[in-house]
Amino acid sequence: MTQHYDVVVIGGGPAGLSAALNLVRARMRVLVLDANRPRHAATLFAHGFLTRDNISPLELRRLGREDVSSYENGDVQFATVEAVTSLPDGYRVIAGGVKGDPDRDVHTKRVVVATGLAEILPDIGNARAFYGTCLHSCLECDGWEKQDAPLVLIGESDDLAEQAFRALQWTNELLVLTNGSGVITDAEESELDAAGIGVDRTRISEIQGGRGVMTGIELADGRVLDYRVGFLRPRWNARLGFLDGLGIVADEAGLLVVDERGRSSRQGIYVAGDITPPGPQQIAIAAGQGAMVSATIVADEARWRREP
Ligand SMILES: Cc1cc2nc3c(=O)[nH]c(=O)nc-3n(C[C@H](O)[C@H](O)[C@H](O)COP(=O)(O)OP(=O)(O)OC[C@H]3O[C@@H](n4cnc5c(N)ncnc54)[C@H](O)[C@@H]3O)c2cc1C
Repeated sequence: MTQHYDVVVIGGGPAGLSAALNLVRARMRVLVLDANRPRHAATLFAHGFLTRDNISPLELRRLGREDVSSYENGDVQFATVEAVTSLPDGYRVIAGGVKGDPDRDVHTKRVVVATGLAEILPDIGNARAFYGTCLHSCLECDGWEKQDAPLVLIGESDDLAEQAFRALQWTNELLVLTNGSGVITDAEESELDAAGIGVDRTRISEIQGGRGVMTGIELADGRVLDYRVGFLRPRWNARLGFLDGLGIVADEAGLLVVDERGRSSRQGIYVAGDITPPGPQQIAIAAGQGAMVSATIVADEARWRREP
């Protein structure tokens, strides 16, 4: 028999779990479906989330799942959503179970999309092995732990110079590596130079080190730079194939466009967290957006009750 929910939340990260917790407390029947492949699993400690500074990101999610499923109207399950299709009175959500959990095929009045982003690191040998321990992507998240250390900033994105100036908040010893890309203009290089920030445009061969300890950066011309920590700019990929056919508006980066209350362009579909513009942010921001989307759903229910 088909199971019916008031809301299916797709994605069990800070955004999805926060939406779900507030929705169950609004007496809605909620199912969270989570593929359990969080981007921040690469790191051992998450920072800056009030009362949970330094918590393991996986532990934070476990606690969040526990919060939601402690309510009898809240279900959390590991499953990857493969399709969302339209029904006359809502949506059908089809998911393949992961970690031994069953497949699901359910009906729901509303959907919250909170699937976050996937990362593509610059194509540098071994970078993944040090990502989340010695090389980080978020200055606000990990800058404190690296403060005053000589830092590299590796990237191929147009905002690299801007990121370099932001990094000065945490260190005065910074070298920007463009990995052979032309993303730093001559004018930007002069500005960076005036601020004491070096730029090296040589391609990077590999990150040296082992067991999560970086010992240097080998460049294509044979030089080895003596740096132990730094930041890199990944590219981000929105994985939203399961929404194909619903015609939901996305921006040129593939992020789902929402109004100021988290409504997508399609009635009944709401969006929270890193998958909304401007993209990757922080746990507190994702969780806040989840709570806001929950309040929006309650407000929309009330409005539709008055004007059916
Ligand atoms: C290495 C690293 C370190 C970080 N450190 C910090 C930090 O210290 N402090 C901080 O505030 N922020 C940190 N962040 C950023 C923070 O993790 C994100 O901003 C936050 O997790 C975004 O939450 P979210 O719920 O939008 O997405 P996510 O946390 O990415 O969760 C999305 C979930 O949706 C699931 N999903 C995706 N597709 C599907 C599907 N089709 N079906 C079902 N489920 C799906 C994914 O598996 C994932 O579990 C870090 C990020 C990274 C990458």
